[in-house]
Amino acid sequence: MESAMKILTYPNPILSMPAKVVDVVDNRVRDLAEQMIERTKEVEGLGLAACQIGEPLAMFIFKENNEFWVAINPNVMKVNSSIRVEEEGCLSLPGIRAKIPRFNQVSVNFTDLGGIWHLRPVDSGTMAQMFQHEMDHLNGKLMWDNVSSLNRDVLRRRYKKVNKFKR
Ligand SMILES: [Zn+2]
Repeated sequence: MESAMKILTYPNPILSMPAKVVDVVDNRVRDLAEQMIERTKEVEGLGLAACQIGEPLAMFIFKENNEFWVAINPNVMKVNSSIRVEEEGCLSLPGIRAKIPRFNQVSVNFTDLGGIWHLRPVDSGTMAQMFQHEMDHLNGKLMWDNVSSLNRDVLRRRYKKVNKFKR
């Protein structure tokens, strides 16, 4: 399937909208999930939130062991307070990477396209980082909202320079 949906980049206002709950998994939601997976494969990403292709709905997709999962109405909870600070990137913030503090372990729950509810602990730091990153998108946040305002300004300046936009 030819994917027509572009990945939105900052400062597109849809990226700062809080996601709406998915009430019913209909064909529109299934099509959206398919598009999200296609886009993620094309760019070799690990995860993508619906708002990143223009639909502020509470869903994201993620890749785990070469398999794609669709997480609908997800929740991500920390299970301890240990923090890791690792570099991450975002498809909506092309050209920059930044060190972002994240909880090492989280617990994730979501329903899939078939309506099955999943609850799982995530103790791999990389996966925990990804889940927190995608959850930020559903809350209308970007990765740099997790750093100090000083660091955020530095990142914004770098982003503007790399992407050559004025504002
Ligand atoms: Zn992102």
